[in-house]
Amino acid sequence: MNAKYICYCGDYCENCAVMAKVTPASKTLYEEMRKAGFEEIIHMIPGGDAFWPFLKSMAEDGVCVSCKDGSGNPGCAVRICAKEKGVEACAFCDAYPCEKFNAFFENYPVLKSDNALLREKGMDAWAKLQDERRARGFTYQDGEPA
Ligand code: SF4
Ligand code: SF4
Repeated sequence: MNAKYICYCGDYCENCAVMAKVTPASKTLYEEMRKAGFEEIIHMIPGGDAFWPFLKSMAEDGVCVSCKDGSGNPGCAVRICAKEKGVEACAFCDAYPCEKFNAFFENYPVLKSDNALLREKGMDAWAKLQDERRARGFTYQDGEPA
């Protein structure tokens, strides 16, 4: 577990499909297209001039850096609030779960049990769960049970 990927809401960036699947796929696509010589001919394809730097940046910089480094919705109310309160994660906030989590729990029910684990058993237990999930290829977007 890498602490820089702990999100305020209780997600773990390395178990998000954007980091686990989209970024590696972008790297593969970019490398294969580059090897095939697309860098020289991409401008001949409509939209190619915009597509190539876009793909290159996804491959080289990553599609998403991390919640704590500013990726995701810049207006995320959870992140703004957690930063103001100075908590490492919302699970450690006295007000958790506040009303900002209502929609989150509907869309990502796994966050409820994950944050309960974080509150009750602490960071080591939560990190162990995230590492186990990562090892078996879990992503939140798969809708796979925790
Ligand atoms: S930006 Fe908001 S929703 Fe996205 S991971 Fe961070 S806290 Fe969670
Ligand atoms: S009140 Fe607490 S639990 Fe709710 S968003 Fe802010 S830091 Fe997170």
